[in-house]
Amino acid sequence: MTSTLLFLDGEFRDSSRRKRIPQTNPATEEVFADVAAASVADLEEAVKGAHRAFTQVWRNLSPRKRTDILFAVSRRIREQAEELAQLESRNIGKPISDARDEIELGARIFEYYAGGITRLFGQTIPVGRGGFDFTLRQPMGVVAAIVPWNFPFPIACWKAAPALAAGNTVLLKPASQSPLTALELGRIAFEAGVPAGALQVMPGTGSEIGDALATHPLIRKISFTGSTSVGARIMSLASRDLKRVSLELGGKSPNIIFADADVEQAASTSPMSVFANTGQDCCARSRVFVERTVYDAFAEKFIAATRQLQVGDPSSDATQIGPLVSRGQRESVEQFIAGARSAGRSIACGGTRTHSRGYYLDPTVVLDVETNDPVWREEVFGPVVCIRPFDDESAMLREVNDSPYGLSGSIWTNDLKRAIRVARQVESGVLSINSHSSVHVEAPFGGFKQSGIGRDLGMAALEGYTELKNVYVAEA
Ligand code: NAP
Ligand code: MG
Repeated sequence: MTSTLLFLDGEFRDSSRRKRIPQTNPATEEVFADVAAASVADLEEAVKGAHRAFTQVWRNLSPRKRTDILFAVSRRIREQAEELAQLESRNIGKPISDARDEIELGARIFEYYAGGITRLFGQTIPVGRGGFDFTLRQPMGVVAAIVPWNFPFPIACWKAAPALAAGNTVLLKPASQSPLTALELGRIAFEAGVPAGALQVMPGTGSEIGDALATHPLIRKISFTGSTSVGARIMSLASRDLKRVSLELGGKSPNIIFADADVEQAASTSPMSVFANTGQDCCARSRVFVERTVYDAFAEKFIAATRQLQVGDPSSDATQIGPLVSRGQRESVEQFIAGARSAGRSIACGGTRTHSRGYYLDPTVVLDVETNDPVWREEVFGPVVCIRPFDDESAMLREVNDSPYGLSGSIWTNDLKRAIRVARQVESGVLSINSHSSVHVEAPFGGFKQSGIGRDLGMAALEGYTELKNVYVAEA
């Protein structure tokens, strides 16, 4: 059993109340570690440290120096990649091959934003009255990053790296279920040269320190990924002193298959577009729309491919699907399945537990759903997909957009004009055509409607951690 403390001001420190958050391995149901839980008093100290690091050190370093340090963070992540991947896999039951990919993604994110520091350009503007006018992108100050448990390491990196690159300092609050790799990131960054206080990692329950984070006067921006309900609460609290917010929230993403697509490829790849990470993915393609003429063939291949998925021990290289993160998460997913069953919907495969230990749930395919079924409308955040036929493109698009969410989605067609026409009409921040990808380090990621506000990743995220200043110089 290991115990980890808070990472504050360049060292591991206990919380003022000595409270602990136990860490469970979801594959074995065993508690294997605990971490200190920050109190509001710890938060107060951490914000002071972050503000000091901002005003006295980090924002004053030359762009070259900050670039060198962020490249060093990236190198150190790679040097410790295997330990980090093992830790992540154990903490949330993530298959080890996915965990390795996600640690590498974190390293690439630090590399990208290290390079971005000297590409954060302003403009010169020919203002009407003459003279010389230019813009500056300036850091905001202390940024709070609140991250979820489904992709703990890459999401921590894609908030911390651009915020630091822009010259801010960061208070990172990991989810209570997944704080271990975030704490390691704090240590690694400090050892790579990020000054004490510039990246502090503070586990602590959202219910205890969340409101204090969202209202602290020295915190200038909250960057949050998680549920729509918590995101809305943060935005409302942050409005008191007009803190900037960036929110990446839930989704109920469509996967649209036209008859002219490569149906074989679409059907064989679609199961992992929803079941990867055991469906605990805000981009999960959980509503599948299939043109009726290919519906039967598609559904049959989709179900056959689902049955082939390797569900099991996250530490095995061959495993594709691990357990859910917690007992509670599995129960909440099972309620959706029970609801679909009692409404008479067809459970074509899964819906059951085949492991006696661990929070496993078999990948589940639901057919014959109606558009007002909770399993069709709500974010399940587990290994459950619904497949529905459609006849007409515009009626299908109305159903696609009849959702409070608008995060991601896929369109499968070989008709270029249709692909572009449909891509323009789907209300979502991210789309892929003949692919299931959602996240590219270099491109903006975020949602329309209740899937969020603001963008992570790409240069858009870097700009999102700055204030835009205009300076006018009289020449006459
Ligand atoms: P959540 O409650 O929104 O948690 C996300 C983060 O917010 C965690 O760090 C959490 O800390 C923190 N938090 C909780 N309450 C807070 C508050 N009042 N103020 C500030 N921060 C707070 O999400 P969850 O409970 O883990 O999952 C519930 C649902 O959220 C899922 O079923 C899914 O629908 C959605 N979700 C979406 C994403 C995504 O990637 N968009 C990721 C995860 C979850 P604690 O862990 O200490 O509570
Ligand atoms: Mg929660």
